[in-house]
Amino acid sequence: MSDSTEHIPGAENPEQFTGLSLGPVQKSAAGLPAIAETIKQVVGEAGISRGWKALAHLNKKDGYDCPGCAWPDPDDERSALGEYCENGAKAIAEEATLKKLTPEFFAQNSVSELAALSDYEIGRKGRIAQPMFLPAGGTHYEPISWDEAFRKIATALNKLNTPDEAIFYTSGRTSNEAAFLYQLFVRAYGTNNLPDCSNMCHESSGVALGESLGIGKGSVKLEDFYEAEVIIILGQNPGTNHPRMLTALQKAKANGARIIAVNPLPETGLMRFNNPQQLKGLLGVATPLTDIFLPVTINGDMTLLKAIEYLLWQYEEQEPGRVFDRSFIEQNTEGYEAFINDLQAQKLEHLSQVCGISVPQLQEVAGLLKYKTKIIACWAMGLTQHTNAVDTIKEIVNLLLLKGSIGKAGAGTCPVRGHSNVQGDRTMGIYEKPGQPLLDAIARNFQFKPPQHHGYDVVEAIKAMFGGKASVFIAMGGNFLSATPDTNYTAAALRKCALTVHVSTKLNRSHLVHGREALILPTLGRSDKDLLNGEEQFVSCENSMGVIQLSKGVLAPVSDQLLSEPVIVCRLAKATLGERSTIDWDKYLQHYDLIRNDIERTIPGFSDYNKRVRQPGGFYLPNCNREGSFNTASKKAHFNIAPITTIQLAGDELLMMTIRSHDQFNTTIYGLNDRYRGIYNERRVILMNQQDMEQRNLEAGDVVDIYNHTDGVERVAHKFLVVPYPIPVRCTATYFPETNVLVPVNNVAKKSNTPVSKAVVITVKRSL
Ligand code: SF4
Repeated sequence: MSDSTEHIPGAENPEQFTGLSLGPVQKSAAGLPAIAETIKQVVGEAGISRGWKALAHLNKKDGYDCPGCAWPDPDDERSALGEYCENGAKAIAEEATLKKLTPEFFAQNSVSELAALSDYEIGRKGRIAQPMFLPAGGTHYEPISWDEAFRKIATALNKLNTPDEAIFYTSGRTSNEAAFLYQLFVRAYGTNNLPDCSNMCHESSGVALGESLGIGKGSVKLEDFYEAEVIIILGQNPGTNHPRMLTALQKAKANGARIIAVNPLPETGLMRFNNPQQLKGLLGVATPLTDIFLPVTINGDMTLLKAIEYLLWQYEEQEPGRVFDRSFIEQNTEGYEAFINDLQAQKLEHLSQVCGISVPQLQEVAGLLKYKTKIIACWAMGLTQHTNAVDTIKEIVNLLLLKGSIGKAGAGTCPVRGHSNVQGDRTMGIYEKPGQPLLDAIARNFQFKPPQHHGYDVVEAIKAMFGGKASVFIAMGGNFLSATPDTNYTAAALRKCALTVHVSTKLNRSHLVHGREALILPTLGRSDKDLLNGEEQFVSCENSMGVIQLSKGVLAPVSDQLLSEPVIVCRLAKATLGERSTIDWDKYLQHYDLIRNDIERTIPGFSDYNKRVRQPGGFYLPNCNREGSFNTASKKAHFNIAPITTIQLAGDELLMMTIRSHDQFNTTIYGLNDRYRGIYNERRVILMNQQDMEQRNLEAGDVVDIYNHTDGVERVAHKFLVVPYPIPVRCTATYFPETNVLVPVNNVAKKSNTPVSKAVVITVKRSL
């Protein structure tokens, strides 16, 4: 591994403090403060009338889909008061802002001046109002016409030796229609280099569920929460990352469900909820959520699950058929005997020691699960971004299979997607490892032979650019530099490109760390009205539960120079492929129904697409697990046996997990506060266990540098303030993207190749 982690100017946030103040960890989530923050953000950015209009249509059946997370909307009545959360409103404030970046702005602000700002400051600048170009050696972005922009990209793409020298990245905000056209264009161009943000988030879930259950998606519907007996939440912070999930948990509790939360951090949103749509919530009368909180050590989740299974096995031995669902196991699974043989060889004390949870607490959990069968398991990045992530998620499946908790009401798997259409993009074919059925359908429907060899995922794409094997990078949304690991390595890789292109709504750091030439193509946001030939168009998205629903923007775009994602793809494809294309791109520029017609005949599950997507609330895609079947080779669900792994820490080493603050969505920073955790006005903080601080003679507010030495390369994140926090011993937490510079590009999850951002081995030294 070369020493390419030299500090790249502008690739990281400035090492400046903004004035930390600490308060108590909040006891309950949402409530009046959520309403206050919503009004402040929305009115502050969009004004009262535009802001009100934006919120009034958010997540409504005839409105538009929130560009935040992928938590589902109720199938039945949507709340008249507002079907959104504080963070959904923040996401909309970002889009609906009236601030726009004109050519004058870019003439007055050089790339390096902008790169010297923090992500928060850059993001607050406003919506990009027209296409911008940065020539080779240029210091300032210049305006460019759309036609000229497409010509430049086409020239660069057609100049490459092979199409595999180009990378086509997708962020989870891209609609189904745009994603389908994008993969079609990229494959017609000749490559499967279609990395997406899923590679960095739930790829481990897709691999684990696909291998063990035959479908890479969760099986539950929202209504299953209301029938569940037990809901287990692992490695997820719903209060910040999927806030409307708290409403579902509140309802589940009211129906008698018990909640078990597994997380190194006692996240406020797991504990208590002040529902701002209820008087009692507004008056501060919180609903307790979690019944049993398990402060597991970082990467202790799989061992914890094995310990629970071990205790359940002991109970099953005492009462055969009362604890395990024997008939389900016999009819639907394979590998049970071998799994039990491995389980009974475990030592409970050792399992307890490794996961950091006491035997009495483990027994309390197993006691709660003993006779229960309606069990839902929810998880997020706290599980998927580990070396053994795939095995850990398969361990969740093992527990659910023992209990027969798949394929029935009130039970099942629930990987909660963090980006509104990340699941939809994958369904549309955005995947570097496309299945043969998709490639055959494309060949059949579009009269060309798509590339058959696999492309690059995110980590492979970074290495290909760094190694000079790829030199054109095109991103459909997102903030690639800030979302990816090993920031300085990734920055060096992007800078080696001949051309970097970003389809974006707002300015972000990826625009400022660029190839020899760079382009920014401004697109419509979800909340923007999308007129095609004078007719309003809608797009569609797929949420975490596999519901496809329409999304129709309502706001006047801030500029008449914006193009929709589908139009951008069609015009780029025409410019690049020209006469050699067998696809009628002009057809799609007449009406989006014509895109959906081609999705219907290419992607399974979309019959009568245009009719069903217009049904209020949309429609569910087929899901074999939900129907109690398993689309594996054997048509059986698989028990998995995985070794207990422990991360050996030497000397004064610690483990670091990167997290979001409450004022953040992925790499978008809405503010500098993290009010649930009692951290205000500062992002350069490291949450540490008091004992670890004392052992290092550190006190609250001390300034430290954080080091990682994986692969013999020294990575350092300078100047972080120590914050004492209730986190297990030798575990720490910091915000990304500030500490992505410490996440080694080579440190990835087995099988899914997802960067290991939740278990980075670090040392901290007092900053000089
Ligand atoms: S829960 Fe997620 S999808 Fe729903 S409004 Fe909030 S951010 Fe948007």
